[in-house]
Amino acid sequence: MSDPYGRTWWGRKWWRALETIGLNYPDQRIVRGRALAGHGSVTGLAIEPGLVSGRVADANGAFDAQIAIPVYNASAWAAGMTALSLSPSCVAGLLAGRLPKRIDDVLAETGMRLLPKKFVTEDHNRITTSCGCADAREVCAHIMALALVSAARMDDDPWLVLLLRGGPTRDLAGRLRAARLASMEAAQPVA
Ligand SMILES: [Zn+2]
Repeated sequence: MSDPYGRTWWGRKWWRALETIGLNYPDQRIVRGRALAGHGSVTGLAIEPGLVSGRVADANGAFDAQIAIPVYNASAWAAGMTALSLSPSCVAGLLAGRLPKRIDDVLAETGMRLLPKKFVTEDHNRITTSCGCADAREVCAHIMALALVSAARMDDDPWLVLLLRGGPTRDLAGRLRAARLASMEAAQPVA
């Protein structure tokens, strides 16, 4: 049976990032988080720039859980879109409605990274969490459940990953075209 959370590489990378910042196998929080996610215990899931939030209920109560990640500003995204527009495989993937596997390699040329890599500690990749439960660990079962359920949402809608990082989510085709034109004009010798 395939994993319902993170059927895509980006969804998997998202929840694994959470798992690796706070937990080691075997950890009951992973098992409990997965059970909570599977039982529909996460409600009010919201994914917005810099923040994933939701309410997670278990036998001890209902807890507000949040996962925060830094956003890139508009000028960083403009540079990122230009880099992406010059990569045919990235343009093809994005226009087909998925995140191309090379996206982080291409964005890395401009110092960006869409999804945090394991154990990477640059400021722009620093994930922080908060949960109302008594567990003092950075990643409790509720955060794990929220990570899994949000990963499944991102599987279905990859633009949520761009949104989470403060990126463009509308008219991606138009923006890629405009970025490519602008970089071609910039490269043209002045007559
Ligand atoms: Zn918790």
